[in-house]
Amino acid sequence: MPELPDLVHVANVLSGALVGREVASARTGDPTVLRMMVPGDFAPAVVGRAVRSIERRGHFIRFALGDDRVLVVNAMLVGKYRLLGPDEAAREKDPVALGFALAFDDGRELRYVDDKRMGKVYVTTLGDEARIPVYAALGVDVLSPDFDRARFAEIARRRRDQVRPFLMDKGALASIGNAYADEILFEARLHPKTFVRTLSADDRERLFVAIGTVLRAAIDEIARRNEPPEVKVRDFLAVRGRAGKPCRRCGTTIREVRVGDGDACFCPTCQPATRSLFVDWSRVSDPEQPASPEAPVKPPKSPAAGGAARPRRRSRR
Ligand SMILES: [Zn+2]
Repeated sequence: MPELPDLVHVANVLSGALVGREVASARTGDPTVLRMMVPGDFAPAVVGRAVRSIERRGHFIRFALGDDRVLVVNAMLVGKYRLLGPDEAAREKDPVALGFALAFDDGRELRYVDDKRMGKVYVTTLGDEARIPVYAALGVDVLSPDFDRARFAEIARRRRDQVRPFLMDKGALASIGNAYADEILFEARLHPKTFVRTLSADDRERLFVAIGTVLRAAIDEIARRNEPPEVKVRDFLAVRGRAGKPCRRCGTTIREVRVGDGDACFCPTCQPATRSLFVDWSRVSDPEQPASPEAPVKPPKSPAAGGAARPRRRSRR
């Protein structure tokens, strides 16, 4: 799917080209992706309005049009934005999987194409925007100044899941997808199945830093390549999509493993499975009771090597 760094690029390209332009005509293809939250059809809801802004919010792209009209798109797995010049727009037929097309007053055209029809295009108003599912309940944007160490620690301390599904929980962190969850965990040298509650202060610090480092490096690389918005640039990734290939850091074969609902790519050497994956839950404090903020489940006797506060583990040797 287009992920956060891809969408930063999409929003930059589209806003550079389209902000200030007026929608001259509009059409839809396959209506499956459309979610009309205003009365009437798509075209009359958008035609004649100028584009005020185009921005990324979490994993959504938000188009603010004149008179408080808002278009919010979740491209899901394969949704793509194509920007066509006047000649191309006149020449190229609509693809079967066209979600919508907006033609602008300068002859350019934006086409949203979704081969799997899994994306969602909400047409709504400023006042009703907060009714869009998921979008209205996004967690802290990981590129915003609000996302700092204290906020991250606060979000993480309540978690009882594994670190990969945690990173991908859009209601907690907005928004990390499959590819960048893997890249962030590789950078932080954490096994994707590590339980969040077993992260030491060092682990958590590495994870926090990795989120910013990995995403910003990807944003820079994608901007440097400056491909058209429909092109997904992923060839620079370290582990995602590289199962069976050697780790660029240590040469170990990258592996793929099922974690929760998804498949994670990781390096078994750089991201070793710690024994904290085998938590002896009978020795951990009552799972119904939230751990206290600054004293997360200390082992009853001497702390584990490294001084980290970790749950006591079952002896396996
Ligand atoms: Zn490695």
